[in-house]
Amino acid sequence: MNAPAPFTGSFTQQEPIPEDGIAAAVEVMRSGRLHRYNTVGEEAGATAALEAAYAQWQGSAYCLACASGGYAMTTALRALGIGPGDTVLTNGWTLAPVPGAISAVGATPALVEITPDLVLDLDHLRARLSERPAALLLSNMRGHLGDMEAISAICAEADVPLIEDCAHTMGATWNGRRSGSFGAFGCFSTQTYKHMNSGEGGLLVSDDAELMSRAILLSGSYMLYERHGAAPPAAVFEPLREAMPNISGRMDNLRAAILLPQIETLEANIDRWNARHDRIADRLRGLHGVYVPSRPAGEGYVGSSLQFLLPDAGADRIAAVVSEAGALGVELKWFGAERPAGFTSAHRSWRYMPMQDMPRTDAILAGLLDLRIPLTFSLGDCDHIAEILSYAVRDALEKAA
Ligand SMILES: *Cc1c(COP(=O)(O)O)cnc(C)c1O
Repeated sequence: MNAPAPFTGSFTQQEPIPEDGIAAAVEVMRSGRLHRYNTVGEEAGATAALEAAYAQWQGSAYCLACASGGYAMTTALRALGIGPGDTVLTNGWTLAPVPGAISAVGATPALVEITPDLVLDLDHLRARLSERPAALLLSNMRGHLGDMEAISAICAEADVPLIEDCAHTMGATWNGRRSGSFGAFGCFSTQTYKHMNSGEGGLLVSDDAELMSRAILLSGSYMLYERHGAAPPAAVFEPLREAMPNISGRMDNLRAAILLPQIETLEANIDRWNARHDRIADRLRGLHGVYVPSRPAGEGYVGSSLQFLLPDAGADRIAAVVSEAGALGVELKWFGAERPAGFTSAHRSWRYMPMQDMPRTDAILAGLLDLRIPLTFSLGDCDHIAEILSYAVRDALEKAA
């Protein structure tokens, strides 16, 4: 078997900011009014305009633009009154900012096992809910949505609030309903590697007027909440005005100006991501020894990254696949690697929280591989990547046989 030609594209290269976003950003800089509350006359400002546009696109009553996805999550937790002494459930496999957000408010993360389809194990969720946690911070990790109706019903029955981490599911749907609309809050990131790019940034959505008023006050609104783009009426803030600490984490007009035109391209970009994702996934699905997580009928996913498992390969052969693909220019992340490198998604590397026994999650992560799919890749690039992955997998598994 001859090795395919190496791939030379970059897995971290995103598309440029749309020209109208660049023009709007230059306009904000020329005005000098970068702070969201630095407006003149009737001008709403780009941050308020972004909140209005995103709330409408998302179908949520309220939206707060803030500094990062991590900030959106800590603000959601604080608005729910969660703090020291509380326990918050989250996925056994997620990215470090998720347990980090729980720890940031002084609460303790408690992990829920995942399934080979990379979503929460509902039996383990039920068992952990009986321990009376303060909330479930559900991470739709790598864009995989669990049965959202079942998860919200299980949380509602246990009387535990649900917060959704939608860093990888902006634009995704479950039975036609947008990810981020199932719980008390939905949290989004506009960091460079997510679905909209402002370098850093976050969006917090909710349909609950009182919770969103708390969140806006927490974000550092200097009593200027009436200048927001998708905020509850002023009367809702009245009893809360002096009850919330100011924990500054506002978005600025420059980032908002960059983001605003990106909302219009989201829908088309979802199709572009999925075309690329499916092109590689379909090839991998046919390979012996490879499991590609199933996509349930109700899930409208956004394939901005791709996961596959080599469930029975063992560490040596998986290491061989990673190194062979890497030598041919295809960067794979391996979640079962001994030492987290460049990312931290292994719960054992979160040493600031109590160690937790997660045998099922660990067994899945041991065989789990992941690659990013930036929109700068063409469909031809995706065929090339699929070719390299097929070669690396076959070669490593056959050599060992
Ligand atoms: C990126 C990310 C976040 C948080 O995003 P930041 O904006 O970087 O704080 C949260 N959850 C997951 C799963 C992420 O990948």
